[in-house]
Amino acid sequence: PKLRRIALLGARAVGKSSMVLQFVENVFVESYFPTIERSFTKQLTYHGQQYEVEIFDTAGQDEFSIFNGKHALDVHGYVLVYSVTSRQSFEMIGVIRDKILNYTGTDWVPIVIVGNKTDLQGQRQVSREDGEDLAARWKCLSCETSAKTNMNIGRAFELMIAEIEKSTDQV
Ligand code: GDP
Ligand code: MG
Repeated sequence: PKLRRIALLGARAVGKSSMVLQFVENVFVESYFPTIERSFTKQLTYHGQQYEVEIFDTAGQDEFSIFNGKHALDVHGYVLVYSVTSRQSFEMIGVIRDKILNYTGTDWVPIVIVGNKTDLQGQRQVSREDGEDLAARWKCLSCETSAKTNMNIGRAFELMIAEIEKSTDQV
């Protein structure tokens, strides 16, 4: 299989770890455990090609955090996660993207924008259009998910593979 390394970045408590656990182990837990950097692997088939995806789950970022876990940056692609219930977490992915581009010294890297927690209907602070508009500006792919109901979780990781394949012809 092709090995692809991806990192999940975003504010704390947006559901990064829940997305990974749902994707890799098909479970959801309501309780919140602040994350230590951890990695998971999962095999998947996309467009007839087998992939081994290594996913780095990070502790979460804010304006002031510096990326000290450098392995979380030496990856093929970045899943930038916000919660549709938090405007602040949506703004944070812009800050994080700037830091990534600053680190890589390029003006484009494979990114997928993910708005999680769509099951919390009454609590929306970020519309679907907000996410789509941002993706259009950044020329990247986006989707909305719920780690709780397992909506679009597999799709989010597939979009990440698609975005990476757009940028590389590696074997
Ligand atoms: P992280 O800090 O980004 O890794 O966030 P976690 O995955 O630990 O999730 C933070 C909290 O949000 C936990 O209490 C989760 O149960 C909850 N959570 C995560 N994803 C969802 C979701 O899609 N819907 C709902 N309702 N809660 C979620
Ligand atoms: Mg976490």
